[in-house]
Amino acid sequence: MTGTCHCGAVAIILADKPEYLFDCDCSNCSKHGSLWGYFAPADVRVSGETVSYTHPERERPSSNIHFCGTCGCTTHWSPTVHISQDMMGANMRLFDSEELSGIPLHFPDGKGWSGQGAFGMRRESTIF
Ligand SMILES: [Zn+2]
Repeated sequence: MTGTCHCGAVAIILADKPEYLFDCDCSNCSKHGSLWGYFAPADVRVSGETVSYTHPERERPSSNIHFCGTCGCTTHWSPTVHISQDMMGANMRLFDSEELSGIPLHFPDGKGWSGQGAFGMRRESTIF
């Protein structure tokens, strides 16, 4: 499946649908308005140029947030050297919402996360 930013300069091409979706409420995710699906980098192809951003207040930031330099849509995140390199996130808001129908949707407590370990959840999961 393929999703694109608003202007179409960046495309995310996925081998498969994500197993689940994360609607995180941390400051970064909520301000970007992103809905994450997680993948092995080998299962994701990013076409087009992006610019990236790393959390300025974390000593060991875990992700580079990428977005389109033309239209500003958040496209994906890639791991930094501080975390395991075998996972990345794609912003599933770039995809047709009908293609996401039926995928479990989780609500991690990103706002309350310490920056390490697993997330707690802020509410019951549902189905997208
Ligand atoms: Zn764009």
